[in-house]
Amino acid sequence: MVKPKTEEEIALLRENAIIVSKTLAEVGKWVAPGVTTARLNEVAETFIRDNGAVPSFLGFEGFPAATCMSVNDVVVHGFPSDYVLKEGDIVSCDIGTLYKGYNGDSAYTFPVGEVDAATQKLLDVTKASLYKGIEAAVAGARTGDIGHAVQTYAESFGFSVVRELEGHGLGKEMHEAPGIPNFGRRGHGAKLPEGLVICIEPMINAGGRGVYLARNGWAVHTSDHKKSAHFELTVVVRRGKAERLSTFDYIESTGK
Ligand code: MG
Ligand code: MG
Repeated sequence: MVKPKTEEEIALLRENAIIVSKTLAEVGKWVAPGVTTARLNEVAETFIRDNGAVPSFLGFEGFPAATCMSVNDVVVHGFPSDYVLKEGDIVSCDIGTLYKGYNGDSAYTFPVGEVDAATQKLLDVTKASLYKGIEAAVAGARTGDIGHAVQTYAESFGFSVVRELEGHGLGKEMHEAPGIPNFGRRGHGAKLPEGLVICIEPMINAGGRGVYLARNGWAVHTSDHKKSAHFELTVVVRRGKAERLSTFDYIESTGK
């Protein structure tokens, strides 16, 4: 059921979103060649707990870690590991919190050291496609309007959109209705009521859109093993313009 939130609920979701946003920035400070993704996970988990929240991903449907750390051709749901990041890699950090009974959920893909121009373009376009999606997330619009905005923008640069995974509503549950696909047709899909809180999270591939599930049952890889980027923010659907609850401002003020 697509259910708008009360302003009291939105206030709690905003508190979660701020913790998640600050956690991403904390992780970003540590992203560098020579660092393991397990270390990044540890930084995130410590920061989340120090802020009185719980990492919501840990144990979710059996997920073994506090965060998802997805390197290069891993689209999403990578396990933090002893993989040592190297110059030119990208790492998507997806972070969730549970705090005061509500959820936070946002993601950012960091470059590791210097990345090549094509990789930087993938990061820039994926982040910009998220903002295009947010612009479309206004009261009375439909989920297809968001998907259409993300898809047409990303594809105009020759990139492709992962279709097997999508954004979602957010509240007491980490994944609530409606699903928010990153592709679609204008005027189609569930209608967005004012006060609905959603996560928009484009997953954009440098190559083809095909993906497969790793044998561990979690990590989603690109079929052609080209890089994939993932950015996610939480917004409230409002009249005329969505309100952002989470933000990349804390990350970007550190120059990442
Ligand atoms: Mg997420
Ligand atoms: Mg999400």
